[in-house]
Amino acid sequence: MKEIDRSKPVLVTGGAGYIASWVIQYLLEEGISVRATVRSKTDSKKISHLQKLSDRFPGKLELFEADLLKEGSFQNAIQDRGGVELIIHTASPFFIDGVKNAQKELVDPALQGTTNVLNSANKSPSVKRIVLTSSVAAVFGDNVDSESVPGRLMTEEHWNTTSSLTHQPYPYSKTVAEREAWKIAQSQNQWDLLTINPSFVMGPSLSERADGTSVNFMQSMVNGKFASGVPDMMIGFVDVRDVARAHVLAGFTPNAKGRHIVSAETLTFLDAAKVIREKYGKRFPTPKSALPKFLTYLIGPFFGLSWPYISRNVGVSFQLDNSYSKKDLGLSYRPISETFVEHIQQLISAKMVPEKKV
Ligand code: NAP
Repeated sequence: MKEIDRSKPVLVTGGAGYIASWVIQYLLEEGISVRATVRSKTDSKKISHLQKLSDRFPGKLELFEADLLKEGSFQNAIQDRGGVELIIHTASPFFIDGVKNAQKELVDPALQGTTNVLNSANKSPSVKRIVLTSSVAAVFGDNVDSESVPGRLMTEEHWNTTSSLTHQPYPYSKTVAEREAWKIAQSQNQWDLLTINPSFVMGPSLSERADGTSVNFMQSMVNGKFASGVPDMMIGFVDVRDVARAHVLAGFTPNAKGRHIVSAETLTFLDAAKVIREKYGKRFPTPKSALPKFLTYLIGPFFGLSWPYISRNVGVSFQLDNSYSKKDLGLSYRPISETFVEHIQQLISAKMVPEKKV
């Protein structure tokens, strides 16, 4: 059991990120001071929303520069002026398309970054708890992995054993990083480790960046990319604000422990399109059918889907058990229809989706 002192600053790594920005906002709204690490304090495109938060909460948000690949890079942010008790470690590269060198682009920053942050915590006696942003990708790699599980219901007991550098490298990066985190956590007794394992995160962004994987997915649902049909794929979805709240609850719930699957609903891409159509009617060219598997094999590679990926994921259903997150953290979930609508409204305001009715 770890009681975290709310008068001490909390460190959030990867502070400019989609999830981390909401975590920071919620902490500030609760009156908690925040130290956020960013790669560069002069990259105004990435951090302007943090500067706005800093203006809204004067003296409560401090930025530190740190890079996952530089050993000791987080030490100062952890140890400075008496140090932090709570670290929320979100920083890790999140992209699925266009990976050229998986070791360098995904695994090294995920794994070395986690090792760096946790080793620095070991050198800082103030640290009592670390909340790591892992992923359901560390629970299972391909949908077909659920076939060996009763009811195809994936829980915190399960681990991804099928991803590798060449097949599903992003899930692999999250798996090796989380495994290493538990190994380091078990080698000491100064701080405890909790993980948040979100499914695919959607919903409004606090930053003005438009290059994220979630934004790309939502754009492709409404911009006609899948107008002739979507792959028959299932995926878990969750609101970014629920994911952020899960991190804050994990930090400040003294008895909370372990891994936490954080996912609101599991839907096929076609179900997701239906949810959007129910709200927006014919406003967008949303997909109305699922592609037969043979067609997915034919055109999938043009959308970045490899044949092994298609064979292990298309047409395979599974469920994610979110009951532990509700019980251990007291988390409640927004309906995913609300999340989609607010996400799309933000894209409409930013003129990032087709303007006219089709
Ligand atoms: P994001 O906006 O891309 O955030 C990733 C953060 O990691 C960014 O702040 C990025 O910094 C930072 N980062 C990447 N490489 C770094 C490096 N070498 N040194 C320092 N910082 C580095 O994506 P996100 O969705 O918020 O992801 C946050 C965490 O959630 C990640 O651990 C991701 O794996 C996990 N997650 C995300 C989802 C999802 O659907 N979004 C689902 C499950 C788990 P810059 O701002 O400088 O690029």
